[in-house]
Amino acid sequence: MKNKKTCSFCGRDESQVGFLITGLEANICDECAEQAFKIVEQATKNAKAQQAAEEIQLDKVPKPKEIKEYLDQYVIGQDAAKQFLSVAVYNHYKRLAQRVAGKTDDVEIEKSNIIMVGSTGTGKTLLARTIARLLDVPFTIVDATVFTEAGYVGEDVESILSRLLQVADFNVERAERGIVFIDEIDKIARKSDNPSITRDVSGEGVQQGLLKLLEGSVVNVPPKGGRKHPDQDYVHVNTNNILFICGGAFDGIEKKIAQRLNTHTVGYNSVQNAMRIDPGNLMQYIEPQDLKSFGLIPEIIGRLPVLTYLNPLDKDALRNILTQPKNSIIKQYVKLFEMDGVKLTFAPEALEYIVEQALTYKLGARGLRSIVETIMMDAMYEVPSSDVKEFEVTLDYARRQYEKSNLLARRQ
Ligand code: ADP
Repeated sequence: MKNKKTCSFCGRDESQVGFLITGLEANICDECAEQAFKIVEQATKNAKAQQAAEEIQLDKVPKPKEIKEYLDQYVIGQDAAKQFLSVAVYNHYKRLAQRVAGKTDDVEIEKSNIIMVGSTGTGKTLLARTIARLLDVPFTIVDATVFTEAGYVGEDVESILSRLLQVADFNVERAERGIVFIDEIDKIARKSDNPSITRDVSGEGVQQGLLKLLEGSVVNVPPKGGRKHPDQDYVHVNTNNILFICGGAFDGIEKKIAQRLNTHTVGYNSVQNAMRIDPGNLMQYIEPQDLKSFGLIPEIIGRLPVLTYLNPLDKDALRNILTQPKNSIIKQYVKLFEMDGVKLTFAPEALEYIVEQALTYKLGARGLRSIVETIMMDAMYEVPSSDVKEFEVTLDYARRQYEKSNLLARRQ
């Protein structure tokens, strides 16, 4: 039959395919069209990946001072950590630029993974998150406590990369240049110096697993995360250029630092040393060997060469956190009221009261938000339906609202 239409790609005729799309001088069947779509999709992906790789031009990456200035807008204090982070991230980009340029004969710059030590709620996650936002790279936060050794219930360490892949929209090349923040790294410390008595499910085995990722290797990643499954297709992710930032509270590490400092001060210049040490903030003297005393294995410590600390937040710091950052809690509430045409103000004594409550309940900066939320709840409920144009949170009002909700909570 002369007029019988066939697919110009696979040659099958109309009766053998789902349907044919006819063009001026050629036809395509549904299956070939679908295949063609996949080819186009892959080619676009490759082109994007290529573009991503070419994007790293060092002159476009912010300089350490600029990175710190950016962090200053969002994070109060913590200057030491900010400086360390800024330099480490900048060097990380130098390293990426070197790789893209393909200058392998040059002095190879090693990866500068970072570990931040500081009590909970002092800004470790905030720092990592803010840096990732500035650099516009895929960023993910994982909690080290959910990982267990292969074979145990829990997640495999590889699932860290599944999450990074997800935030990178499964663009492997982009994920391979992302930043991973591993929180609570101290929780996978070896509990005792003798690991052989009982198997330490969440301890050394997990550290070993993590080591693989930190040192840079090609890892089989289950794209959907969770545990590895024999039927699942793996994506190969090279962790060579992924920057890992670890954070942990390392409760009690000050004792280890003090012990080390004490043994050192026995030397001939002990008096001078002792005078220079500020016992109120021992964290600033932290050294890699203290992490080892705490229970991290030396290999892990070796792969986290940038070690820095965060200061505990005192009254002044908490007060500044309330009001100063670009998107500070108070600024957010002022904005919320402004959208209803109401001018919201806080009396200085009310702010003082909020800080004191956060300190009393040992909630740190994390508590500030919930305290303000409690105080503002009634006003946020009532003001939009009233004709109030100005609202001042006085000390009296703050105290009344906060105590009222505490009372209710206690009754329940
Ligand atoms: P952690 O050290 O436990 O990772 P986070 O970074 O999660 O603490 O801090 C919890 C919250 O407290 C943050 O979302 C932020 O609002 C506030 N916060 C903590 N530290 C600071 C800081 N130094 N500057 C500004 N806000 C802070």
